[in-house]
Amino acid sequence: KISYYNGEFKQDADISIDYNDRAFYFGDGVYEVIRLYNGVFYTLEAHIDRLFRSIEKIGIKGIERNEIMEIIAGLQQQNQISNGYIYLQVSRGIDGRNHSFPVNTPPVVMAYMNTIESSAAQNEEGAAIITSEDYRWLKCDIKSLNLLPNVLEKQRAVEQGAKEAVLHRNGTVTEGTSTNVFIVKEGTLYTHPADNLILNGITRLSVLEIADELEVPVKEESFTLADLAAADEVFITSTTLEVLAVDSVDGQAVGEGLKGPMTMRIQEAFQKKTQKLNMS
Ligand code: PMP
Repeated sequence: KISYYNGEFKQDADISIDYNDRAFYFGDGVYEVIRLYNGVFYTLEAHIDRLFRSIEKIGIKGIERNEIMEIIAGLQQQNQISNGYIYLQVSRGIDGRNHSFPVNTPPVVMAYMNTIESSAAQNEEGAAIITSEDYRWLKCDIKSLNLLPNVLEKQRAVEQGAKEAVLHRNGTVTEGTSTNVFIVKEGTLYTHPADNLILNGITRLSVLEIADELEVPVKEESFTLADLAAADEVFITSTTLEVLAVDSVDGQAVGEGLKGPMTMRIQEAFQKKTQKLNMS
């Protein structure tokens, strides 16, 4: 497999990462994960736009959109992968361990592709989630490499046999450690507004678009842990999980305990969007 680090495409085994890369010391960088279906990237532009918003928000300078697009094209050309994903990260660069920004140091891009199994089988089933306190910082709209709270809470979920930890601030549900969260109540879809407390997921945006197409009422309003527990349906979304039904929250069944009709409709519509890619 050919991957990319700091200006060069190489076999994975030949890549060595500079230990002075600020991504190591500080998690000083941002990243994106983009899914590829049938050889076509899904919502590529939206991901690249978000990457550059993250880059701008943390003040990384000296990286252009065409550079990223060339890296993506290079990886796609050199790796025969048609169903998978690309991981892209941009760090502030290579410097000694100084907290303040290096001067005249270019950012460092790292990127690779991998295959991914179809999510279809997994998404037939529902997933268990737990709830956890959201003790992250107040710039969760930045897709930062700093993921320690996300890592710790995801691990807590896994140790309890759950798929995801859904986070809350003082009882207000924000998002999952690597997913956005939707609930259905009396036919209306609710999800946290895209402010500084969540990452505005590209899959979240696809679901909002689908809801619009299906004329499903949507409220981008925050909801509480009590609302989550009393929801008719719950699902989580991400680039890698797509649209995944939640069948229990902290061990309590959601709704009837079966995948709900709204979740099914949205999953179907999402699958149509991604399957359509090879025909366009
Ligand atoms: N929230 C967080 C904290 C995430 O890490 C992710 C996935 N990286 C998401 C939401 C979902 O975003 P997307 O649909 O763009 O993958």
